[in-house]
Amino acid sequence: IASTTCPENRTDVTDEPALLPVVGRDTLVPLVDGRNVTYANLDVAASAPALESVAARVAQALPLYASVHRGAGYLSQVSTALYEASRRTIGAFVGAREHDVTIITRNTTDSLNLLAGCVPATVGEGRVLVLDVEHHANLLPWAAAPGGAAVLAGASSVAATLDALRAELAARPYALVAVTGASNVTGEALPVADVVTLAHAAGARVVLDGAQLVPHRGVDIAALDVDYVGFSGHKTYAPYGAGALVGRRDWLDAGTPHLAGGGAVRAVTHSEPDVPAAGAASATWALAPARHEAGSPNVIGAVALAAACEELAALDPAALHAHEARLRARLVEGLSQIPGVEVLRAWDDAVDPVGVVTFVVEGHDPGLVAAYLSAEHGIGVRDGKFCAHPLLARLGHRYGAVRASVGVGTTGEHVERLVTALASYVREGT
Ligand code: PLP
Repeated sequence: IASTTCPENRTDVTDEPALLPVVGRDTLVPLVDGRNVTYANLDVAASAPALESVAARVAQALPLYASVHRGAGYLSQVSTALYEASRRTIGAFVGAREHDVTIITRNTTDSLNLLAGCVPATVGEGRVLVLDVEHHANLLPWAAAPGGAAVLAGASSVAATLDALRAELAARPYALVAVTGASNVTGEALPVADVVTLAHAAGARVVLDGAQLVPHRGVDIAALDVDYVGFSGHKTYAPYGAGALVGRRDWLDAGTPHLAGGGAVRAVTHSEPDVPAAGAASATWALAPARHEAGSPNVIGAVALAAACEELAALDPAALHAHEARLRARLVEGLSQIPGVEVLRAWDDAVDPVGVVTFVVEGHDPGLVAAYLSAEHGIGVRDGKFCAHPLLARLGHRYGAVRASVGVGTTGEHVERLVTALASYVREGT
């Protein structure tokens, strides 16, 4: 391990503690020199570690686990009640209104695919408008909408992007505008309220990809007048396989069932065929949420996600914001002072990004940088194209970059370790 001092160190955050305890925070990982160090998890934007309170709630729920919605036994009743209470907590966490439904999904990808099957052909010609900054989960599913998707090429400023959005919404009818709450590459976002105003004025609804926003800032769809939000439990400190789609009931009640199978139907009949082998089953589908939750649901995932929502809701939002903003600011400042390091931005006038910082080191392969940080310093970062190929290509980095991201379990020491390690890497040309 090369020892080094930080570059000019005006806003050292070494003493910044974690905001909440997460499972595995003292995990030791081996370095190439044979030492063990505590893992510095700077990859929470990919998947966040479980909150300790979430793991404890899961341990409490496991002995009560039994079939949900399908059994008369006592534990089936308890599990069903737990599942439905979790649904209410998850919906309330993102500001669900009376006319909204909360559907338990696997993750954001699942939520947005589900909604794509519910976009009516009769509204805005069934077309969906997205920007090129989006994660593939908020780009690719919309091809399944009845009118398909249009991808709007991004501009380098928020103001110009909003102008382009306004012009496109005036040029063609749209059913839905699908927009990120925070980019998983830069942490930046368009002002959601402005997007909602533009979309609603044009008769289109808005779905927010909340994968990166919900865990770090929370979302209130009622206050924002957003129509739908999708997010992931594994990014919200509840890695037990559940996510959610929350939003307006009418499309969800009428849309194509997300999965066909038991639990999603009111009745199934089997036609009497002339030829015995050629009979067909036909279903009368239930309304949402059951319509989209065929099969045995993930009650433990829902309990975990609800527990995370409760714990995050109990946090002072200003404290959460300040913790992540301090760590991010120090990352940007420290990394930007290292020669040859460029921090990526989608828009030059975006404000108040979440705690995601993506950078390139001139002349260095992102995969090797990430491997060095892990092997020599016990730091976990992500490298690659972050499932956002169009944005990386537009920013001129089609071969990838390195991403560091922070959350409630991140300490200032993790951030300082990364800044110091990268400075050493560049200085010594490792
Ligand atoms: N949207 C954004 C902004 C993301 O960062 C991610 C995951 O990285 C997704 C969507 C997809 O989330 P998931 O893999 O949990 O479905």
